[in-house]
Parts: sequence; C-alpha cells; structure tokens
Amino acid sequence: MSRKNIIAANWKMNMTPTETAAFLDPFLTTFSDAVDCDIVIAPSFVSLAKASEEITPNPAVSLSAQNMSHEASGAFTGETSAAMLLDLGCEYVILGHSERRSLYNECDSVINKKVHATLAAGMKPILCIGESLEEREGGKLESVLTSQLEGSLADVSADQMANVVIAYEPVWAIGTGVTATSGQAQETQKFVRSVLEKLFGADVAGATRIQYGGSVKPGNAGELIAQPDIDGFLVGGAALDPTSFAEIVKAGIAG
Ligand code: PEP
Repeated sequence: MSRKNIIAANWKMNMTPTETAAFLDPFLTTFSDAVDCDIVIAPSFVSLAKASEEITPNPAVSLSAQNMSHEASGAFTGETSAAMLLDLGCEYVILGHSERRSLYNECDSVINKKVHATLAAGMKPILCIGESLEEREGGKLESVLTSQLEGSLADVSADQMANVVIAYEPVWAIGTGVTATSGQAQETQKFVRSVLEKLFGADVAGATRIQYGGSVKPGNAGELIAQPDIDGFLVGGAALDPTSFAEIVKAGIAG
C-alpha cells in the first residue's frame, strides 16, 4: 500500500514570531509548489498566527499545534481549544509527545480525550508514542507501545483513523543525538503497524502513516525513510534550521 510521506517540524519552545518569519521566508521559497510529501510546521502557540500568515498561500506546507486542550472552552487558564487552532488554520495537532507525558504528566486517557477533540474539530492528530531506554532494555517495548496505542486510540473508529498519524519516538533518541538504527526503527514500526492491525484491521493498518522521530538529521534521513514502515519524520532539533530541515524534507520527497 502506498502512503504519502509526512515530514513535520516540532519546534518545541523555540522560535519567536519574528524568528518564525525569518525561518519561513527562505523555507517556503524552496517549497513553493505542491510536492509528493506532506510538510508540516508546528510552532509554539504564540508563533502560530505569524506562521499561518506566511504559510497560507503555500500548497505544500501545513500548520500544526504542539498540544491542545480537550475542553471546548471556559475557565481553563493557559489552555488552547480546538476552535482557536482551527481559526488559525491548523490542520494537525501533535498529541502525547514524550515531553508532555513526562514533564506534564499527560497519561493515555487524557491524550485519548485530546485525540477525540482534535478529530471532532476536523483536525488530524499526530499521536506520539515511544518507550524509555529502561523499558526497552527491560523487555517491555511491545507492552508499552501496545498500551499507549490502545489507551490513546480508545473508541477511535476505523474511519477516523484515516486522519490519524502515529509518530513512533523512542524517548532515548529524542534530543540526545542517538538515533535508533534504521533496523531498530523498522522493526519497531512494523510492530506498531501490527498492533494497529489488531485494533482496526489490515486495511487501516496498511493505510496509517507512521513517522519516526528521534535525532533525525540530514545525514540519516535517507536511510531511515527507505524502510518500508517509516512514512516520514517528526523532527525536533534539526528542524530549527531551514537548510537542515529542507534537506530532511527532500529525503521525504525522494523516499
Ligand atoms: C521531537 O521532539 O519529537 C524530536 C524527535 O526531537 P529531536 O529530533 O531533537 O530528537
């Protein structure tokens, strides 16, 4: 089954609105026409409006938020709703990133509510899952990933899965400079697809895009994207530089 690659930049708590414009000006010139790869930029909340202004006329590049409240509106100081993100032109929302799970105690049941709120609003979740080094070395890789998928995707229908992207991000590879080998990433992503098959059937599993994330750089993107179960990347550090992110996107277009 052919799946369109999707390469997303997770800028985390970096890039002011001014820096966002300085990044996107040259970057959008490089990718001004539609390409056979989805390109996604996920700035911080305060830079979404500036990024939206810059991106809107561009057919190749979409906007994502890095998080979202599952509540629709009301007394939730500091939170951001689906309606607010839609109004800014967001198409995607990154949910369940390991930093949200570990630093802000987000658990699968809360992430599941966010997944449902994102889908109900007509946006697409990029659902992050991944194991710690301790879990991998302790033989818990498969049980951790299975329970993250079952919990975060509870009551999501097979039809809704057409709008869900999974990002497999081994926690030990995020921001560490240590990348999973292409063999490790492929083997694990194949396992993730097998869990999706059990949950949603073979057609959904074959159609779902599964990104790899964890110290992706221009130098390793080509080998990773050549793996049959890797359908793109979620990129942190290397996405802060327009030239290096453009190189990774080019690997996604070629792959
Ligand atoms: C991430 O934040 O999702 C990520 C993969 O970061 P990095 O590319 O810096 O490892």
